[in-house]
Amino acid sequence: MRSKLVVGNWKMNGSREANALLLTGILAGLANAKAAAAVCVPAPYLYQCHDLLQGSELAWGAQDVSCQPSGAYTGEVCASMLQDFGCRYVIVGHSERRAYHGESSELVAKKTKALIEAGMTPIVCVGETLEQREAGQTMEVVNEQLGAVLDKIGPDALASIVLAYEPVWAIGTGKTATPEMAQQVHAGLREKLRACNAASAEKVLVLYGGSMKPDNAADLMAQPDIDGGLIGGAALKAADFLAIIHAAK
Ligand code: 13P
Repeated sequence: MRSKLVVGNWKMNGSREANALLLTGILAGLANAKAAAAVCVPAPYLYQCHDLLQGSELAWGAQDVSCQPSGAYTGEVCASMLQDFGCRYVIVGHSERRAYHGESSELVAKKTKALIEAGMTPIVCVGETLEQREAGQTMEVVNEQLGAVLDKIGPDALASIVLAYEPVWAIGTGKTATPEMAQQVHAGLREKLRACNAASAEKVLVLYGGSMKPDNAADLMAQPDIDGGLIGGAALKAADFLAIIHAAK
C-alpha cells in the first residue's frame, strides 16, 4: 500500500513572524500522523524552514524552479539553490504558473527533469479548466500535461515524482471535486503511469488539490488512487492543516 502525503502550498503568503507561528503550530500537532507532511513556501522563506524544521517530521520545499542550472537568468532560482536550503519537494506546473506565467507542458517537463537530477522530488501538477471539463476534455488535457513530463524523464525516473491532480475550477473556489470525480481522474492518470512503467506506477503518489479542507479530506483520501493532498488556503492555519494531515488513514 502507498503511504499518504499532505503538502501545504503557501503560494504568495507569509511573513517571518506569521511563518514562525504557523510552523511551530504544525510541529506541535504532528505526533502520530499517518501521513507524511511538507510545506512548500515562497523562496525567501526557505532559510527559515531550514532553520526551524531541520531534524523534524515536517519536510519543506519550493513552489517553482528554473529549468536552467545557473547563469544569466534574472529573477530565477535554480535546483542546486533549492537543494542548498534542504528542499525535499518542489512544485512544478501549478496551474497558476501555467496561466499567469505562460508555462508550457514542455517547460514543466524540463523543470521536472532538473529537479530529479538534483535529487529532489518534483510535485508535478496537472488539471483542467471548467471550460475543458464541460467540453469533456478532462482526460485529454491532463494526459497531455503528464505525457510531456513522462516523455522527458523516461520510465526509469518515474518513481522519483509525485503527481498532483488539481482541477483549476476547484482551486480557491470552495468547489471541490467529489471523491468519485477525483478518483476517476486519478485512476486515469494511474493508467497512464502504468503505460510508462508498470512497477513504478504503483508507487507514485497522486495527490488531489483544490479546496481540500478538514471536512472533505478524509473522504477524498479514502479513494484508492488518492494518496494525499496539495493544500492551498487551508494550509495557512495550523489547526486546519493538521486536521487534514490527521484525516489520512
Ligand atoms: P486551495 O486549497 O486554496 O483551493 O488551493 C489548492 C492549490 O492550488 C494547491 O496547490
